[in-house]
Amino acid sequence: MVDVSKILNEALRECNDCADLDSLDQVRVKYLGKKGEITSLLKQLGKLSPAERPRVGNEINTAKTQLLLSVEEHRKILEKTFLDQSIADETIDVSLPGRGNSEGTIHPVNLALARIEEFFIGLGFDIGEGPEIESSDYNFTHLNIPEHHPARAMHDTFYFDDKLLLRTHTSPVQIRTMEKNKPPFKLIAPGKAYRCDSDLTHTPMFHQVEGFCVDKNVSFADLRSVLLDFFQFFFDKELELRMRPSYFPFTEPSAEVDISCVKCDGSGCRLCSHTGWIEVLGCGMVHPKVLSGVDVDPENYTGWAFGLGIDRLAMLRYSIDDLRSFFENDIRFLEQFIRN
Ligand SMILES: [Zn+2]
Repeated sequence: MVDVSKILNEALRECNDCADLDSLDQVRVKYLGKKGEITSLLKQLGKLSPAERPRVGNEINTAKTQLLLSVEEHRKILEKTFLDQSIADETIDVSLPGRGNSEGTIHPVNLALARIEEFFIGLGFDIGEGPEIESSDYNFTHLNIPEHHPARAMHDTFYFDDKLLLRTHTSPVQIRTMEKNKPPFKLIAPGKAYRCDSDLTHTPMFHQVEGFCVDKNVSFADLRSVLLDFFQFFFDKELELRMRPSYFPFTEPSAEVDISCVKCDGSGCRLCSHTGWIEVLGCGMVHPKVLSGVDVDPENYTGWAFGLGIDRLAMLRYSIDDLRSFFENDIRFLEQFIRN
């Protein structure tokens, strides 16, 4: 007959060595399972003499109970250890510094556009849009730029064929809006425009906002006051505004608009080439031919229109000197812009 106490001592030692619940269960099965070492001792009792059976039987049962108790006790210790450990791991130390959140930033062109829209929506303007692939009729002809007109050559146009092109300005939206509706019109149309041009201040794709207002008794003075209010709102400061006579086929009279330099306030710096002025847009009174072309009677209605470069305004507002940085998607550049 095997030495029961030797098996028991071995089992107790293994039990105490267990570091987790799985191995503890393996020890239990090894000794107390159906084919376990202690269980099989009981099966061998029949081989003993009737005189020895009670004593040995008693000894095996005592060993079995003792091991069971020990396994249970050790199980509780292990469970408590794991519980304490997981509580310790889950502790939140509210005094630790935060990890920060990785919120995106807003592209400077969109920031500038949001300011432009905020101003004009406040004046009751609608926001419109039109196709970027445009016909030469809408891009030129209806805007009083007939075929072979020298102004067409100035636009450095991307053509698909004789008729289709990438719009060179947002002005076609004026025509499309007036064609479908009746005056009065108060609308801005922001969007992309395309010209075959690339340097520090030009990219082949750029953003423009077309703005126009057509109604009875709309004057050039209205245009001037709206633009001055707009630029003061956009740059958040007092500004001077001046208009210089210019030429656009779709406005008459036409003007280039300068504002006092946003950097030096007019005293002269590199940004304004020491003139104190910065050119910001082109505008004018909508040409009577453009109005009559869309069935608006130029005898009863007048209107003004302007086209401004959003990218250029964003460059001025955020002091950026290379327009191309807007479109290179360098995350270090883009991350600097927060909503304002
Ligand atoms: Zn300046």
